[in-house]
Amino acid sequence: MASASGSGRVQEATGVNGQSSSVADGAAASQINEATTSESTGAAASTPAVNGEVPPKKMTKAEKKILYGMSSPEEVAYKALTEEIMKSEVDWTAKSEMVQDIVYNICDETDGDETANPFSKLLRLFRCTADCKLMKEGTNTVAGLVLQHFGEWLKKHGEEEMRKKYLSEVVKRDAIEKGLHTGGIKFVAKVFFTTLYSVWEIVEEKKKIGQYSMALKIIDAFQFDEDENYDSAVFDILLFYYYRQKLDDALRNFIRNKPNLLRKFINYLDEFSGCATDKKRYEMLMKEMEKYGVSDTSKHTFGSSRAIETNIEKNLKELGDNFLRDEQQFMDLAPHYYRTMRGKRLRFFANTRLEQNENNTDAPSSDLTYFQNVTELLQGDLKAVARFVKDLWKENANPLYRDDAIRWCLYYDLDQQNPYCLAPTMLSYLAENPRSIQEIRFQLEKTLQQIRTQTTERIDELKEGIKIIMITNEAGFHEFLEEFETCEFAAMDSEFSQDIGFSSVCLMQIYINSKVFLLDFKSKALTNQPMKNWEKFIDIFFYGPSLVIGYDILNDINQLFRGTLSDMKADLSKSNNVVCLKRMAENLHLMDSSIIPIDSKNGNYKLSDLSEGLLKKPMPKGEQIGCWGVRPLRVDQIRYAANDAYVVAELYITFMQLVNKYQYDWDGVLMHSSMNFQKEKQKNKKEKISDSVWKDLIKRLVKEIGKDTLKEFTIDPKSVKIMADVMHHGLGKYLRRFGFDVAMAKDKIWTRKYLQKNTDRVVITTGKGLDEWGRICRVIDVPNSPTITSLQQLAFVFKSTKAMIRHGQPFYRCMECNSDEILRIPSPIVHALYAYDAHLTSKMWREPKPELEIYPFDPDEWFNKLININPFDYDNVQCEVARYGGGHFQPDWIAVRVPLKEPYTGCIVNITKNVIVAESRAMPIITGINKIPENVASRPGIFFYSCAYCGRFYYDGKILDSQPHSSKSEQNNSQVEPEHVEQAEQNEQQGKSK
Ligand SMILES: [Zn+2]
Repeated sequence: MASASGSGRVQEATGVNGQSSSVADGAAASQINEATTSESTGAAASTPAVNGEVPPKKMTKAEKKILYGMSSPEEVAYKALTEEIMKSEVDWTAKSEMVQDIVYNICDETDGDETANPFSKLLRLFRCTADCKLMKEGTNTVAGLVLQHFGEWLKKHGEEEMRKKYLSEVVKRDAIEKGLHTGGIKFVAKVFFTTLYSVWEIVEEKKKIGQYSMALKIIDAFQFDEDENYDSAVFDILLFYYYRQKLDDALRNFIRNKPNLLRKFINYLDEFSGCATDKKRYEMLMKEMEKYGVSDTSKHTFGSSRAIETNIEKNLKELGDNFLRDEQQFMDLAPHYYRTMRGKRLRFFANTRLEQNENNTDAPSSDLTYFQNVTELLQGDLKAVARFVKDLWKENANPLYRDDAIRWCLYYDLDQQNPYCLAPTMLSYLAENPRSIQEIRFQLEKTLQQIRTQTTERIDELKEGIKIIMITNEAGFHEFLEEFETCEFAAMDSEFSQDIGFSSVCLMQIYINSKVFLLDFKSKALTNQPMKNWEKFIDIFFYGPSLVIGYDILNDINQLFRGTLSDMKADLSKSNNVVCLKRMAENLHLMDSSIIPIDSKNGNYKLSDLSEGLLKKPMPKGEQIGCWGVRPLRVDQIRYAANDAYVVAELYITFMQLVNKYQYDWDGVLMHSSMNFQKEKQKNKKEKISDSVWKDLIKRLVKEIGKDTLKEFTIDPKSVKIMADVMHHGLGKYLRRFGFDVAMAKDKIWTRKYLQKNTDRVVITTGKGLDEWGRICRVIDVPNSPTITSLQQLAFVFKSTKAMIRHGQPFYRCMECNSDEILRIPSPIVHALYAYDAHLTSKMWREPKPELEIYPFDPDEWFNKLININPFDYDNVQCEVARYGGGHFQPDWIAVRVPLKEPYTGCIVNITKNVIVAESRAMPIITGINKIPENVASRPGIFFYSCAYCGRFYYDGKILDSQPHSSKSEQNNSQVEPEHVEQAEQNEQQGKSK
């Protein structure tokens, strides 16, 4: 590896104006490469360029200059001309006329000159136009005008003939290349080409040399949807990315809109489902990998055959779940997968039943759920029944499996209808044991009778005073909405079906005012009611005045928006009434582990543990893996479902009582447990300072403390050691920004231990904490009434510590980890990181990100953007850009060095590895890019600040911890952020050794 990534591979390091700049010395660069190879997501990332196919020929600098450079006097003139038009302050129509003049002049010159070609001349003009990279649908550009007027010129001069005469193979290729290297491929395609005939060859060539993203761009630009080659070409590209584990959101969205392609892909993957045990399928898969250029070494990155199988099955499930959503269609497209999964599922049910029997669990209806689940899965498919029976019979030494096998055999009449499908040992057992067969038949009848009884019985009350109301139609729904709209709080839960292709909500239980409403999502009369009723439901659910509480409620919400409500949306960040009880339990545990007196693994409570521990009500388990898709539901199921919502309501009230008993702030707890907790924080007046720009903040703070008072403060905040009590974590983070050395308190036991070892820390706290910590070390009693602002609290700490306000840097320490080494990075670099990260590491098959283009990251484009960073816009910071590798099997990678500029250390940002190495540190760190929303990352002309230890990004004006752009980070929000106080200790030690 080392030899492959040495400085010898530096391919291009050209600065602005062709000026050569020796970039990041090879050693440091290769260090980044090596240190992070293990984390690279792409299989191709560690692949040496071997494996038969010839990598594309790399162009020399001179060749590149000819192709993309601005060398001839003619081109320099073009550039100046178009730039002038761009800058001139006339309106767009006038600009358009000016462009027309130029275009017509240039093209008309060819009259009489046989060697001049209007197409190639025009292309050169187009390429020299300063804004040709900014072309986009719906934006005005001079480059766009150039093409538009050329189109008109062509029409006037006989399009057909002109094309025939001048649009040679060479010119065509030139047009496509120039289109690809600007933002204008779509526009070039429109004006230059009428037939697509020869373009396919170019697509094929691009594919052959591994430039799949280019190929995809061309295909998209020409909108080949109707073309017969379309599907297979795109499919190839799809697989190319699939086998590199780089099937990103963009590409997924691409398939989402192409149902044929989607079906083909599902069908294709199905061929390899079960490949771990099927040698033939496995070999087939390996051949396919080879075909798409996955080398032998890279194959290993896919893991064992078992891991590959799991992965393929996961992808199939995700495809079905997110895009297809039709069980029957899924069954047809992925029959093999379906069969395998059905077998696994059946087996799972059989084993669970056995476990329940062995553990003697109190599970009165587990046998009924088992019966329903199995019949629902088998759907009377006798072949599947036979396989299942055979599978059970294999373990006939265990009487439970043996009797079960016989039961299914009897239920489906297999012994009569098709005895040859049964194992011979089973047949002889059946013949030899008529009495036990009789007994099994009797039990079977009993089970069937129980199901019949349970489904005809009625249930109106969960227990005395708690009504159960089934909602199956519009009239009932209105009745429910009325209560929902006006209640103080609603506690909810839902039950899903466990279909193989996808899962969907079958029942939603909502407890309101001593009533449990059961919304039956299997009732057509309910689901097909007018959309406006559902809109109203969503409105109350997410934006209504009443609290909606659930346990792990995000899961229920996600399920809700599949199936029936898949056309609807809710913006959780705008909602402020949805509360997650699980999150609340975690927060309470962090605050004070004595509040919930139940054993937990770091605050991870199960709903059943909470119910048993706090309410003294064990939850029945029999229906846990119930069959929620069948109707009518059994009484036991209804009772179980209603109870789930009721328990949530009871726990909610219990939590409230406990929090009040321990004298914590209930509103605060509620806020921290709401699904939009971060947003809520910003709305809160107290936290407003997070929106202010550093300079403003300083001004306000100075005013608050008083200029004269401040003059007496001489202590460097960096030397002030603070411990922020749990309720003051927010304040603690701000103090870090000003340079204070702040450790964050965790639970009481931990904090006490820590303080006993570090008695020089001053605790900022309020109320109970004063007593508690005052015995160990110095405390500052920070005022914490609702009328006190965060700014006043900050001022208070400055006054108490006599620390001076330094204002040269907007961030003196990382607010997350307390590190005092902050790097400063021009925004285009962060934008590049964002683009690459979004392209590469977005989670599998998640919701689409509309802000992303449908193309994968284009290294050429970004390289160009980066070398064009103007130092004048960024405090004269001269960034240097390097690009390594590139080409077929080598990952293209781009790194930028930000030089040292006091007080900021220099660093190297490796865009394509998503790491930063501070010059003072040898270890690369993964950047915090996934915390930055697109609209922030794309801001030009600002600096981002990155922590050299943890990679967290900041920028002045707003702190970047509030708007996660991926659902991954959304989940992380559920907890109070882990604090790296160890880091503080480490820093201390470093400080001492200095
Ligand atoms: Zn940090």
